Amino acid sequence: MRRAVCPGSFDPIHNGHLEVIARAASLFDEVIVAVSTNYAKKYRFPLEERIEMARETLASLRGIVVEPVGEGLLAEYCRQRGVSAIVKGLRSSSDFDYELPMATMNRQLSGVETVFLPAEAHYLHLSSTLIKEVATLGGSVSEYVPRSVLKRLLAGAP
Ligand code: ADP
Repeated sequence: MRRAVCPGSFDPIHNGHLEVIARAASLFDEVIVAVSTNYAKKYRFPLEERIEMARETLASLRGIVVEPVGEGLLAEYCRQRGVSAIVKGLRSSSDFDYELPMATMNRQLSGVETVFLPAEAHYLHLSSTLIKEVATLGGSVSEYVPRSVLKRLLAGAP
């Protein structure tokens, strides 16, 4: 059983995330979408709602589970769950510069590998932050987020 984890805050989950998660699911037997919370960070959606949006969206895909990851070390979470790889989408060289030291540290801490998947060109510019900004100012983000996210974003739009 090859198990991978796709970690992130998913505030909210968007099509760039979904594309990487689907590709991870084609490479591994099981993919855990691990939703993180850092209590020092301010989120638009509480943890339960971020999990709910991801679950609603991914419900029809086999081999994918959505779970909270908690505040501890991701390397420790991976060790406890028998996760063999962390899968991350890469949008740019700055993503890579940010991710490389974490990938090396995670491997040294627990032996878990990090697999980088190049982001799909159509979603290269997507981040949860940009989507929230556009939606808050009344722009259309329907091309970039699943329905369960869109309805929640529209509920808070002008
Ligand atoms: P963060 O971990 O900085 O809060 P997110 O939760 O938004 O970031 O994203 C989690 C992971 O999803 C990122 O580490 C990145 O690997 C991936 N990701 C984010 N946006 C995209 C995108 N547009 N295309 C592909 N992968 C992405």
